Amino acid sequence: VVSRMFSAKQPSIGKFTGRPDPKTGNFKVSFIEGDGIGPEISKSVKDIFAAAKVPIDFESVVVKPLLVNGVTSIPEEAQKSINTNLVALKGPLATPVGKGHRSMNLTLRKTFGLFANLRPAKSVEGFKTIYDNVDLVLIRENTEGEYAGIEHAIVPGVVQSIKLITREASERVIRFAYEYARAAERPRLIVVHKSTIQRLSDGLFVDVAKELQSEFPDIKLETELIDNAVLNTVSDPSKYSDAVSVCPNLYGDILSDMNSGLSAGSLGLTPSGNIGHKVSIFEAVHGSAPDIAGQDKANPTALLLSSVMMLHHMGLHEHAAQIEKAVLTTIAAGPECRTGDLKGTASTSSFTEAVIKRL
Ligand code: NAD
Repeated sequence: VVSRMFSAKQPSIGKFTGRPDPKTGNFKVSFIEGDGIGPEISKSVKDIFAAAKVPIDFESVVVKPLLVNGVTSIPEEAQKSINTNLVALKGPLATPVGKGHRSMNLTLRKTFGLFANLRPAKSVEGFKTIYDNVDLVLIRENTEGEYAGIEHAIVPGVVQSIKLITREASERVIRFAYEYARAAERPRLIVVHKSTIQRLSDGLFVDVAKELQSEFPDIKLETELIDNAVLNTVSDPSKYSDAVSVCPNLYGDILSDMNSGLSAGSLGLTPSGNIGHKVSIFEAVHGSAPDIAGQDKANPTALLLSSVMMLHHMGLHEHAAQIEKAVLTTIAAGPECRTGDLKGTASTSSFTEAVIKRL
């Protein structure tokens, strides 16, 4: 028996208010296949969803970088599709090189108000890393902090960068973290911070968590300094198996990749969800891997596990559990079933076939 990343009775993640099409009975989901290996790993997801008879019709949307009045923007057609379907699955997007362009991922977060980045990191059975018992859930504030991008040179040789923390953004991400902890039956919420130094900004983030605690008497609130959190997590990640951690943007960026390294040894297995009040977008954490694009070598697992998170978000728990189990048992079956990044010999398409056989 292979242990799951998401429990079989995993609750819905965030608020999904979409309805199936009355004619087909199927949900519609926007699918941004992305660049590089994007089309190959997207095909794997589509083939597996079709074989598992998941009641979803994918609507393909192209997100090519677009400059509108000098600002990177999402094409209108893609915006319309995502705003209508309320949920999207996304492959990696290469950050455009060239003057004036901002990261497309940042642009998507801003455009759709995706304020929380949900990053579970769990050991995958059959693929050995330093630890085999990692089960971490981290929620990262996704819209402000150092990522406000407010920087200026005061005088030559002196640069000031502003870290922006607001009560509003802190409250919505921390409330989501409490709700997620409750729904996932993880009784501790840990706020990771450095308010000993960033007294006002991180101090506000911690204060908001304390204020909201009265709404969640069943969840124990703890605080932990970022440096202690790093040391404790690498020393014994199992200490956090019953907890959800929440933190400001930059700390979350760094900690979440460390968690991925501890659980999977690579980002190639790591799923994520970007959650907003209305729209949510699920995506693999890795990039477009231009070095292996078009060679049938890419590992589709991260996108597949992201699609499992998406199915839980939409309330399609049985399909989620079925696909997750098939993916994880395929990886556990041995090197001939794994792709090269996991030291195996399978191609993207033979891995996909192996998963379909196990559905
Ligand atoms: P990358 O994640 O694309 O690749 C890093 C290494 O990991 C490469 O050797 C690659 O072959 C390997 N790798 C990544 N995913 C894999 C998979 N599924 N299967 C097997 N091997 C895999 O990172 P990078 O090279 O720094 O970035 C390439 C492009 O992707 C850049 O344009 C970057 O901006 C973009 N990017 C996008 C996202 C996103 O859309 N969320 C995230 C990170 C990077």
